[in-house]
Amino acid sequence: MTSVYLDYQSSKPVDPQVVQAMEPYFQKIYGNPSSLHSIGDKATDALEQSRSSIADFIQAEPDEIIFASGATEANNLALIGYAERNKSKGKHIIISEIEHISIHNTAKFLMKSGFSVSKVPVNHYGQVSVHKVNERITDDTILISIGYANNEVGTIQPIEEIGRLCRDKEIAFHTDAVAAEGLLPLNVQNDSIDLMSVSSNDIYGPKGLGILYKRKGIKISPQIIGGGQENGLRSGTEDLASIAGMARAAKIVMEERENEVKRLQSYRDQLIKEVLEKIPRSYLNGHPEKRLPNNAHFRFDGIEGESLLLSLNDKGIAVSTGSACSSKTLEPSHTLISMGLLHEEAHGSLELTVGRFTKQSDIDALIKALPEVVERLRKLSPLY
Ligand code: PMP
Repeated sequence: MTSVYLDYQSSKPVDPQVVQAMEPYFQKIYGNPSSLHSIGDKATDALEQSRSSIADFIQAEPDEIIFASGATEANNLALIGYAERNKSKGKHIIISEIEHISIHNTAKFLMKSGFSVSKVPVNHYGQVSVHKVNERITDDTILISIGYANNEVGTIQPIEEIGRLCRDKEIAFHTDAVAAEGLLPLNVQNDSIDLMSVSSNDIYGPKGLGILYKRKGIKISPQIIGGGQENGLRSGTEDLASIAGMARAAKIVMEERENEVKRLQSYRDQLIKEVLEKIPRSYLNGHPEKRLPNNAHFRFDGIEGESLLLSLNDKGIAVSTGSACSSKTLEPSHTLISMGLLHEEAHGSLELTVGRFTKQSDIDALIKALPEVVERLRKLSPLY
């Protein structure tokens, strides 16, 4: 049985306080927010209160929040919705080479519809430079989408500077904030963000819900057509229970983030220090300082990541080799390859992410098990 969970980037348990906040919306407050009677009014009040809390979480206004089924949908709505609606201004979009697969594949889809896409490379730490973004801007550029922080190696991007560049050049700026939310303070005003994708589960809310933040005045085309909910930008009856859950989740983060981040950071630093000390020929992937407080990402010479994951799983420890969303492909991580790692190095990587329910004993268990597992696998490896 798995007893140690170090894969918070792939999925997070829903906080018990969130489950409690959702409970009334299954049977007591069951109205449709679009209904005109008083049962519907109660649902509308709850919907708008939740919208307000979620807006506070990112320093936005409530009417700038569009509920969607998750960050994948929010990313689709941002990129396709903006591109379609603004194609008379230009048909060039910029993303980075290390975006989440939902951005890469949406960009690929747009290329089939006649848009051109430039991908900004990253340095060895997985960082995008503002200068390289600037170099790719043309008169035809209408949108730039750069993730707030990378979901695999945890490198934090210079979002404020990229936002400023976009503002100066009058280009819309979208960021996928999924990896950063709950860990870094999100402020769409300071960072000059026009569109931002946020997921509910990444702040310990239910899965299957996310939001797209859309700055007032930014025009997009809806991608789901129907009854005109969410200001006509995303039709379909709102999932009120999940929305109330996400609002509670956002409030908990606002209350606890600062202390929580210190705790996670000390676990992360302990993992990095001990793993690098105890395991010869082990290396840290990603930026040594500008990294998410919950992320430790390694590579080990002569080791295949999948075998490492399965061996740790046998010892009751759940870890990751990279993005769970891309685990169905056998290709090495596009993020690690863009960072300049060789295929065998990318295949020998391990991602550890800690979270709200991580305990010191989880860290101790990993630090005890990993050196033994690496040593055993290396003895069996023809690569080593
Ligand atoms: N962006 C990033 C950075 C992600 O890590 C994920 C997956 N959690 C998504 C987008 C897609 O989110 P969802 O699966 O909730 O649609």
